[in-house]
Amino acid sequence: MTARRSPRIVVIGAGIAGITTAHVLQEAGFTDFTVYEKGDDVGGVWHWNHYPGLTCDVPSQLYQFGFAPKPDWPKIWASGPEIQRYHRDVVERLGLSDRIRLNAEVVSSVFDDATGRWTVTLADGETVDADFVVCATGVLHNPSIPDIPGLHSFAGPVVHTARWDDDVRTSGQRIAVIGTGSTGVQVVSALQPEARELLHFTRTPQWILWAPMSLPQLPFADTVLAASPRLHHALYRGLLWGSGILADIVRKDTWRRRAVQAYARLSLRAQVRDSDLRADLTPDYQPLCKRQVVSGTYYRAITAGNADLVTESITEVRPEGIVTADGRLHEVDVIILATGFRAHDYMRPMTVVGRGGLTIDEAWRDGPRAYRMTAIPGFPNLFTVLGPNSPTGSISLQYTAEKTARYLAQWFDLFRNGEVDRIEVTEEATAEFNAQVAAASETTVWKTGGCDSWYLTESGAVDLWPFDRATLSRMLARPDRSHFRLGADEPLGDSAAL
Ligand code: NAP
Repeated sequence: MTARRSPRIVVIGAGIAGITTAHVLQEAGFTDFTVYEKGDDVGGVWHWNHYPGLTCDVPSQLYQFGFAPKPDWPKIWASGPEIQRYHRDVVERLGLSDRIRLNAEVVSSVFDDATGRWTVTLADGETVDADFVVCATGVLHNPSIPDIPGLHSFAGPVVHTARWDDDVRTSGQRIAVIGTGSTGVQVVSALQPEARELLHFTRTPQWILWAPMSLPQLPFADTVLAASPRLHHALYRGLLWGSGILADIVRKDTWRRRAVQAYARLSLRAQVRDSDLRADLTPDYQPLCKRQVVSGTYYRAITAGNADLVTESITEVRPEGIVTADGRLHEVDVIILATGFRAHDYMRPMTVVGRGGLTIDEAWRDGPRAYRMTAIPGFPNLFTVLGPNSPTGSISLQYTAEKTARYLAQWFDLFRNGEVDRIEVTEEATAEFNAQVAAASETTVWKTGGCDSWYLTESGAVDLWPFDRATLSRMLARPDRSHFRLGADEPLGDSAAL
């Protein structure tokens, strides 16, 4: 057995997954790790996304790190800036700042078959050697820019919500918003009151659950929760348990699912009286099929005198505005693209080269796939946190990130103790896991609800977690050595066959 050694670990990304990983590694006594973050701040999607009206539709007492509970959220559903402040506070409070290098974009990670180590290269040319690479690079990171003819010819500003430009003037302007997901709905609600005219271009309407999104946290809740960490922990666990109902609803066609779906239909019927507009706003698929949109203000905004829903498809953009299939030119001053993300482009545009020169693009030719969200055959000693099949649609992401990071820490500990060198998941274990995912996905509303969404890969596979939280915790409880090839002496095999 080799002597105790200190693994050098590179973590890529300082969003929810990266902050969690850094905390867990620090807590587990790992001393040689650095988080590289390409942005100039921590927070990941909460740093990059700062469009007007940005809110989180998951209650803040749940949408937080289990290891860093915050008693004094001002509102039940926090705004983007409040969440971003929280991330900064957590990093500082837990002493992680010195571990994180901002403005440090990783452009490539290459595995060396001979040494069993990774060479990580930053955009400025600096290289770092590492025993392990943890990709905490996020899901909703790369903005999806629609390929609309003439978009670049538009005379005014064109801004994607995920890269909002604070200098863009929207007040008193004629605004076009393209996209009807959670983002489009939030940005329309926020900009309509001050706009001269707001046109919402809707390719596919979404079901929108009504909720009072601006409700403050209960009076004195902050004082009570701060005074009693045990009570605060119990509340967090209670919410975590309660959110299990959501996992159940999306996975099984029960009365609970049907009740939520009925509520979505009622939300529309009760708020939109005009039958033509209501017809235009009515989706032709089941509620919950796409990522459910929640809003207390959208229907009010879209029925306001200065707002219009445009359901004709967009054919081109001209310097003065947007042309729709009926030949009409909609003159606008600003175009806002709320068109979402390339959600399956995990780690991209980074180059990742594993064993035998296998690239991540080759390994994922048919779409992203990993073992239990974290390990990829052909890529020894590389892991993802919130990687493929992460439960973006059902279970707390902070919880999942922490479970995954603690799972990884166990592998790193085995390395530290000299019990393992190379850790590479087998193709068989990965295929078995993905077969389980495919089978469990069959009954999910994401698959049966009759819609297309970013939850599905191009091949139609569900890139989400189709199991419950107990299964997630069990699968990540401890490393199953039989699913991995361990040590440098293991036969390397033929990566082309992976
Ligand atoms: P999204 O849900 O992927 O929605 C993108 C929208 O853009 C869809 O309505 C889509 O229409 C439309 N679109 C895309 N390309 C288009 C084109 N060429 N022409 C016309 N329309 C086009 O993106 P998102 O709203 O940014 O949300 C992404 C995810 O971020 C959410 O699902 C959620 O997980 C997260 N999010 C969460 C919150 C929160 O409160 N927690 C807030 C914002 C975002 P089709 O449906 O026809 O494709």
